Amino acid sequence: MNNHPCPICRNLTFNNADEIGDIYPVCFWEMEGGEDEREDINLPAFGPNGELSIAQARKNYVKYGAVEERFKSQVRLPRESKKASL
Ligand SMILES: [Zn+2]
Repeated sequence: MNNHPCPICRNLTFNNADEIGDIYPVCFWEMEGGEDEREDINLPAFGPNGELSIAQARKNYVKYGAVEERFKSQVRLPRESKKASL
């Protein structure tokens, strides 16, 4: 079941079975593991997303609809039932 909010876009694309390196289709964040427990979201984890921090990825998602501008043609819109309730 995809019923957990993505750490970046907050749409319910997050899945208990997801593993590090899985890419979320709505924002193109690549799972690093432990995103929700990160103490400083301004610091990158230098994992699958390289130098991209959670804070920067969230800003980019608002601006481009993807965690990085170069991914904006590869993402899809969230399904109606999976949209973030902000
Ligand atoms: Zn996302």
